[in-house]
Amino acid sequence: MNLPQHIQFCIDRLENAGFAAYCVGGCVRDHLLGIAPHDYDLCTAATPEKLKEIFSDFPLVLSGEKHGTVGVVFGKEVLEITTFRTEGTYEDGRHPDWVEFVPNLEEDLARRDFTVNAMAYSPTRGFADPFGGQEDLKNGILRAVGEPELRFTEDALRIARGVRFAVRFHLTPEKETEEAMLRLAPRLKKIAAERVFDELCKLLPLMKEGDLLRFAPILGEIIPELKPTFGYDQRNPHHAHDLYTHIAQVTAAVPPELPLRWAALLHDIGKPATSSIDEKGIAHYHGHAQVSAEMAAEVLRRLKAPTQLREQVVALIDQHMTYPIPDKKWLRRRLSRLGEDTLKQLLALQQADTGSKGTANEGDWDYFRQIHNILTEILAENACLQIRDLAVNGHDLMSLGIQGRAIGQTLNCLLEAVIDEQLPNEKTALLAAVNHLQSEEMI
Ligand code: ATP
Ligand code: MG
Repeated sequence: MNLPQHIQFCIDRLENAGFAAYCVGGCVRDHLLGIAPHDYDLCTAATPEKLKEIFSDFPLVLSGEKHGTVGVVFGKEVLEITTFRTEGTYEDGRHPDWVEFVPNLEEDLARRDFTVNAMAYSPTRGFADPFGGQEDLKNGILRAVGEPELRFTEDALRIARGVRFAVRFHLTPEKETEEAMLRLAPRLKKIAAERVFDELCKLLPLMKEGDLLRFAPILGEIIPELKPTFGYDQRNPHHAHDLYTHIAQVTAAVPPELPLRWAALLHDIGKPATSSIDEKGIAHYHGHAQVSAEMAAEVLRRLKAPTQLREQVVALIDQHMTYPIPDKKWLRRRLSRLGEDTLKQLLALQQADTGSKGTANEGDWDYFRQIHNILTEILAENACLQIRDLAVNGHDLMSLGIQGRAIGQTLNCLLEAVIDEQLPNEKTALLAAVNHLQSEEMI
């Protein structure tokens, strides 16, 4: 394993001071998979006290000291070095209740979640893999270290991590590990919401349709609002799939950006609650976009998602049934209201939604192509879409004697007129229009 210079430097320094030191966890796993590790973690026999002495000439991050971790700062990077330790349960869902420093590597590896994450490497001491992680990796198996039931009871977040590693590295959970993951998934509700939310944010962009179907029962424990969609018959000729299969397809089909993936996952959760059956036995879901949006807001609030993300997701879901009219003025208005990024995200969601009904046809794709073409045209024209794009500003209006709230109102009127092509975006024309409105005493 070829180590970056600063990692080698730290290992040498620790070894020269008389302490065993290894790279451990994700970086060893990634190396075996032929993936460049995105960061390195070290573990060592040196206690935090010793680490502080050994690296006293470096800036240190000591927030994890109680748990055995000292961060050594190299430029922009903080290298975490952790004393060999065992740990207790995670009562608060965030931190182990206790940690105990131990003299050897094997005990440290035994506290780790999965065999593929429980390997270590040292340039002088070699490769340590007491739980067969390398073999599991080769065979595509995700296996808990030790007794799965016990390990997921200690920290249920490991269940969600397990899903993430299985999806990311195409691993199949070994039978006992999988059974324990499913059985103990309800415990994820007790884990600190931020930790679960972070985990889902890492997981969602990686998921394909098959992953979303395979791990549905676990997702359903984290987001119970999904459960009524499992196997739900949509009883509508426009939908060939059960509701959750459709949700899984849309989620996998949108680009792997967080607002879109979240919006796709939650976009139809309001359907079961809004269904009505007509005289022909066909189901309709009037207002389901708004109900889904409200439910999504609740889910994301509960998971303590950042406000900005929550608002983006809720807006996308709320609007997902408002399909654009292929008309330049209409689209310009929409662009003005939503902004380019949101409108493009909404289109991506609608396209995935249409494509995942199982009944889409060439006409649907023509429609989306047409919308994209018009949008490209509008953007290329550098159209006036915001008040700040207008050829007049508040000062211009004040010099005509307009005051207070009337300034904003007039600017909004002008913007609408320009967007609708009733006025050109030129200063003289806009000021003339304002004069006209004044003479008619409309402002
Ligand atoms: P990534 O590439 O996503 O960073 P990683 O394996 O490095 O993957 P980290 O969350 O950075 O994951 O954790 C580093 C190591 O710490 C893991 O490889 C694992 O050995 C151990 N670990 C992390 N979280 C837990 C946990 N909740 N329970 C047990 N061991 C854990
Ligand atoms: Mg890591």
